[in-house]
Amino acid sequence: MGEETASTLKDFQIEEVEVSNLDKEEIANAVAKTYVTGQNIKATIILGVTGPLLLKELKKIFGIPFLSFDNVILSVVGRSPLARVVSVVSTFSEEKTLLTCKAVYEFIPNQIYILNSKDIGEIPQLYRRGYHIIIPCSAELVSKPELLDNLLKGLEGVSVENPLSYFKEEIYSLNLGKGKPSTYKIERILPCIADSSKIRFIAQLNANVEDLLPILYLHLKRSNYLEALDALTFTTDKEEMITIYGNGKVCAGKVKDENRAKEILLELIDLLSKAYDYLSRHGSPPAEMFEARRKLNPNIVYSYLPKLNCGKCGEKSCFTFAIKLISGEKKLSECKPLVEEEKYRKNREFLEKLFNPLL
Ligand code: SF4
Repeated sequence: MGEETASTLKDFQIEEVEVSNLDKEEIANAVAKTYVTGQNIKATIILGVTGPLLLKELKKIFGIPFLSFDNVILSVVGRSPLARVVSVVSTFSEEKTLLTCKAVYEFIPNQIYILNSKDIGEIPQLYRRGYHIIIPCSAELVSKPELLDNLLKGLEGVSVENPLSYFKEEIYSLNLGKGKPSTYKIERILPCIADSSKIRFIAQLNANVEDLLPILYLHLKRSNYLEALDALTFTTDKEEMITIYGNGKVCAGKVKDENRAKEILLELIDLLSKAYDYLSRHGSPPAEMFEARRKLNPNIVYSYLPKLNCGKCGEKSCFTFAIKLISGEKKLSECKPLVEEEKYRKNREFLEKLFNPLL
């Protein structure tokens, strides 16, 4: 494992928090407030059934970032798709959460191995077979950290990694303020799974960009905004596959080399800066535009075109022009009637914002 996982349980101060005032029963099974010492970083970790939207909601209520146990598992698996993870669960809801994760995310058989706490004796053998070990602190363990210590001591000769160390980076990114990113840090460069002649990389921007993702979604044609995951994915014209997360994490695949990775990140910072300026000037894009983009198809675009089929854009029909606008082969300015005639002004402005909100 890398240096960032070298922290020990002593680096963290764990506190049990009162959860009885939470009516979200599904998350109230265990909550641990964690401080990373020396860095003034504070976050709350929920060990139980959670989802990104729920985590966001809790962040709003408590004013501090929340992480879920399954995030941690997935962050390990996501960083290294060949990594194998053992997770020791001690509650039924943890087990259920992980089984769902397995069903949704597991591409390689046995990538996530779930053990019940009574089967803890199997850990040394699995560790030798190359599995990472993640032991969630259940409510009981959190309230009595010495139990976890005893558990770890019982595994003599085996270097079991501290589960909380995985949170450290995630906590850092959750504490980033919203704003205009100006720098990046490439955290990992790995071989690309889809194309062995290329690389993939994971990087961290120095700002939270969650408010900027919807604007980029409108701007980037081959993009998909996954609100529930707080992520935007898009394909570049070089067929590179990029994912940006609201917390400033960037993952990319099918990238030529490290130099290209740096170029991508600089281009992304430039784009996000423009999105930030847009947000400062106009606020969040109107729901109508967002919906139109979500349902973006030739019929919708066609409905805003003059429908003259005059051929001035070089296409035989307005419908073909609409298709090529969506694919990026044509520009709005090529439809002369739309640009020049006053009666189409409103339609033109709508389409301009739809296709180029950052302009
Ligand atoms: S120039 Fe405009 S109105 Fe004429 S065919 Fe092309 S899209 Fe239609």
